Amino acid sequence: GDIKAVLEKVEKGIDLTEDDIVLLLSAEGDENLSSIYKAADEMRKAVVGDVVDIRAAIEFSNICRKNCLYCGLRRDNSTVDRYRMDADEIVETAKELKRMGIKTVILQSGEDPWYTEDKIIEIIRKIKKETNMRITLSIGERTEEEYKHFREAGANNFLLKIETTNREVFKNIHPDDDFDYRVKCSQWLRENGYINGNGNIIGLPGQTARDIARDILFFKDMGIHMVGIGPFVPAVGTPLETYPHGSVEMTLKTVAATRLVLKNVFIPATTALATVDKEAQVKALMAGANTIMLISTPSKYRSRYRIYSNKNMVDLKTAYKAIVKAGRKLPPYINKDYIKDIV
Ligand code: SAM
Ligand code: SF4
Repeated sequence: GDIKAVLEKVEKGIDLTEDDIVLLLSAEGDENLSSIYKAADEMRKAVVGDVVDIRAAIEFSNICRKNCLYCGLRRDNSTVDRYRMDADEIVETAKELKRMGIKTVILQSGEDPWYTEDKIIEIIRKIKKETNMRITLSIGERTEEEYKHFREAGANNFLLKIETTNREVFKNIHPDDDFDYRVKCSQWLRENGYINGNGNIIGLPGQTARDIARDILFFKDMGIHMVGIGPFVPAVGTPLETYPHGSVEMTLKTVAATRLVLKNVFIPATTALATVDKEAQVKALMAGANTIMLISTPSKYRSRYRIYSNKNMVDLKTAYKAIVKAGRKLPPYINKDYIKDIV
């Protein structure tokens, strides 16, 4: 089959097979690539419209009990200057985001056991009480009970990426993790009523286009609502520090194929993309992506949350520029006072 035939299937509403997706991911040449991106862009416009949703992340701790090979925060990375934010500091930061008009705050951290179940619940309750914002948690693997209790306390969304569905690749990069437990976590999140975020890393050692196609079908089977797709970016002080970064083109093809297969989902133009190529966030917005995550960690901690090296800053200004460049719309809820000097 060829790419044209696959895109015709999409137009007719016929489900794509694994082989179809592999074909999309293996596409080369400007003409083929732009036809895929265009189809994904049209699908995005039809199902989620032109507004680019803006969320903001507070990276509240860079302490981690795990040793994922790719990640700069891994416990054996002695080059990291570790920090933790307490509940009040997190809430103060969330209040500032509320003033900016942001509706969803993402609380992200390493897997840091200092934040016990009770501490996380306290943070969720305080943010709800003081700001009534929607809360996304991105704090890694926990127990079913904890996920349930965080949801009851007011957490709305959860982001836990499988990173790769190739069990062998998963095992090689996750010395502490069990693939089946990670899948279970994702099922628990769904069962407990979270808006369920997942995703993968593009360009992991040993990963193939077929693996990525299977990732996309996994997201579909799991009923995932949000898919974070980022290229691997090497981090200093990790076993993969000299391994090459993932391909921007493969990441964009994955964004496009994910939009074409999953249709009505949130797909961010990721910070990892912006780190590898300044223009890549704009390109992702034009190839199926529809959200941007601001990095809103207080500046005194920001450079210490180094999951990979040379991490690019994404603030309201850079997000605004990308949205305009992609010919898209800023969300109506953003407080105009915060953008008046850049509009
Ligand atoms: N500890 C939690 C977890 O692992 O789910 C949340 C924080 S973790 C830093 C968030 C995401 O960062 C991971 O899901 C992973 O995809 C991404 N990440 C970490 N290191 C990366 C790297 N070197 N390149 C690209 N993405 C990376
Ligand atoms: Fe820790 Fe998450 Fe990084 Fe793994 S990816 S080392 S769990 S912060």
